[in-house]
Amino acid sequence: MTAQTEASLRARALKVIPNGMYGHESVALLPDGFPQFFSRADGAWIWDSEGNRYLDFMCAYGPNLLGYHHPEVDAAAARQAALGDAMTGPAPVMVDLAETLVSMVGHADWAMFCKNGTDATSMALMTARAHTGRRIVLVAAGAYHGAAAWCTPGPMGVLPEDRAFIRPYLYNDVASLEAAVAEAGDDLAGIFASPFKHDVFVDQELPDPAYAERARALCDETGALLIIDEVRAGFRLAKDCSWSLVGVAPDLSCWGKSLGNGQPLSALLGAEKARGAAGSLYVTGSFWFAATPMAAAIETLRILRETDYLAHFEALGTRLRVGLDAAAAAHGFTLRQSGPVQMPLIMFAQDPDARLGYAFSQEMLARGVYMHPWHNMFLCAAMTMADIEFALAAADEAFAALAPRRASVQPSPRLLALLEQAAAGGH
Ligand code: PMP
Repeated sequence: MTAQTEASLRARALKVIPNGMYGHESVALLPDGFPQFFSRADGAWIWDSEGNRYLDFMCAYGPNLLGYHHPEVDAAAARQAALGDAMTGPAPVMVDLAETLVSMVGHADWAMFCKNGTDATSMALMTARAHTGRRIVLVAAGAYHGAAAWCTPGPMGVLPEDRAFIRPYLYNDVASLEAAVAEAGDDLAGIFASPFKHDVFVDQELPDPAYAERARALCDETGALLIIDEVRAGFRLAKDCSWSLVGVAPDLSCWGKSLGNGQPLSALLGAEKARGAAGSLYVTGSFWFAATPMAAAIETLRILRETDYLAHFEALGTRLRVGLDAAAAAHGFTLRQSGPVQMPLIMFAQDPDARLGYAFSQEMLARGVYMHPWHNMFLCAAMTMADIEFALAAADEAFAALAPRRASVQPSPRLLALLEQAAAGGH
């Protein structure tokens, strides 16, 4: 295969793909120089279309959990693919996978499979409404639950009616949750919560146990369903639902991204009380029952159960956080690092328009490290301590390069426009 230049790919894409790319994987909101196209991936590394290699702290925005091309997962997928993938009905692996998830996730008594995270969150919304016969669903302001009309952050193509019964509350704020529940009166169908606050541009927050417990109690009092959106964080903090760490069991949980270590698969898991409602929905998709991703998921989950990957994540993530703080301080910078170390968000203190974050991530990219300036990142189990040291050495050089030009760094006009639109209530 001949290498193609990024510039020629972008020019061709502009002609046949609206804006050349869409969604948050578009580089329109990343600093100049970030590649839009990647030609391959292996372990913890990605290669752009021109052959440049990067240590990848985005992990495909979540799907890469064990490492790209994990040999055992790929072998399990290949074995199933040789037998059959998308067929006229599901393969036996569907039952195996449902049993596996029910055995691993404490609150779950059943599983339904789909393709994208948005499929799972939309099914959760419908299940809550079907279960209660009510309309209102509470969602934490700023939380991402997918790109369907009821939840997409963009305003275009969406009617007020599409989200007429979606109401905001503030994550980790018991009083705001209670007020939203009171406001919903006898029309409350469900409450969505992320495993921890992992919104873009703002510091991440672990769930306050008082908030998680109150969300559970309010659902018990009203009969509404408590829904945890594990699509991004699933199996990165626990080998169970993330809220098992705060001792709270939801009624429904939504999974995707890492479930098949990169193979397309998502799932809605639920407790016994929601089985009837979930079973009453008409939901399906041409590729939802494809067997290859399910075989990959069974193997991925086996590896998760049998390995100490969580401790590995913790060790890598802690070293990265501590090392970055030290490197920043050595060059006169202060970082704002937040959230669990396994899913770091790295921004700069006193950097409201992210100009330093943009410049730093450009310097990192030039040194072979792909870091995102405003979205949480991900570790994968294929990363080694040597990879983290490589990133820290790059960071030391990046801060050194940034320090002398600190006062003259300009903000990104594209990002400024987006931030202004968001401040004006653009979504
Ligand atoms: N929920 C969360 C928390 C997510 O991070 C995402 C994807 N970024 C989704 C839902 C939607 O998943 P998908 O893009 O697979 O539809």
